[in-house]
This record gives sequence, C-alpha cells and structure tokens, in this order.
Amino acid sequence: MKIGVLALQGDFAEHIAMLKRLKVETAEVRLPEHLNGLDGLIIPGGESTTIGKLAVAYNLMDPLKQFGQRHAIWGTCAGAIFLSKDVSRDQPLLGLMDIKVQRNAFGRQVDSFETDLDIPELKQATGTETPYHAVFIRAPIIESVGDNVKVLASVPDGRIVAAQQGHLLATSFHPELTNDTRFHEYFLTLVD
Ligand code: GLN
Repeated sequence: MKIGVLALQGDFAEHIAMLKRLKVETAEVRLPEHLNGLDGLIIPGGESTTIGKLAVAYNLMDPLKQFGQRHAIWGTCAGAIFLSKDVSRDQPLLGLMDIKVQRNAFGRQVDSFETDLDIPELKQATGTETPYHAVFIRAPIIESVGDNVKVLASVPDGRIVAAQQGHLLATSFHPELTNDTRFHEYFLTLVD
C-alpha cells in the first residue's frame, strides 16, 4: 500500500511521519504525475485558500477530483475544507464531499483548543476504548452533511467535526499533531 500526502502547503510532514510509524509507504504529491500508483491520499491542515490556489497553479484540480472518484482521500482541517463542496465563499474546492463547511468556526478567542471525542467507528476499527483526544487549530466545523454522509464525531454542543462519505473522510481536527495513530489506522481501512 502506498499513500500520498498533498505537499503544497501545511503540515504534510507530520502526516508522512505518522504513516511511517505505521510502516506505510508514502509519497509527497506536488504534481499530477505524483498521484500515479497511489492507493490513497491525505490532504493536510494548513491554509485552505493557499492549498486551493496552488492546486490550481499546478494543474492538480482535475487529477485530484478524478483520484477521489476511485480512491480514499482524507482531509484534515484545511484539507477537509478543500474536500468540501461549499464554504460560503469563493475559493478553489474539490467538491468531492457533500458537506458544507464553515471556516474558522470556533471564533478568535478560542482559535485553538483540545478536547476528548467519543468516536464509535474509531473504537470499533481499532479495538480500543480510550476516547480520542482531538487538537483543533483555527478549525472549521461541518455545518451540514448530505444524505450519503455519515457523521463520525461532534463536539459536546453538537457541532460536527468528523464525517465520512464512503472512502472520503473529513476531520476538523489534526490527528497528525498527536501521538495517537488510531485515526490514520482508521483511514487505512478505507483504502482498497
Ligand atoms: N483556518 C484554516 C483555513 O480556513 C484551517 C486551519 C488548519 O488547517 N489548521 O483554511
């Protein structure tokens, strides 16, 4: 199995380090041809407008959309925004996931925070009971999801922070910035 990480901007190096800990072969993706031979792709956190503009500049938009038709893709934070179909403003989006996202939704005074989440699918897939400790940095929320999208996790006030549509995964938080490999393990179960 070989997993690519979109390496245009953001914390792609942390995702690669997590995948290496799981003994997965990795590749940095900067050009369309770098998608060849990959079984799945992670789009990291960072700044979604910048990631989108660079993807346009490197002619990656259509190749990424096509890749997502057949292969697993996981977006963390800015990556989740880039995967979505609606952010209520004009910026390049892949539109692969039927989710509406609100950027920077947790407000300036709490730009960053950490909290424990109960994620039944994650516990089941990894055979563990420990809650998932999630790190949010200027995080988006998933405002609404389409009928074919499953909500995986919400913060205590009910706002959605993780969702899955078949082999596509979106998280508002950053598993790559923790020591917990379970979310990466969960993503690998979606890879054919
Ligand atoms: N606030 C960023 C955005 O809207 C996302 C932040 C992140 O990826 N940590 O693109």
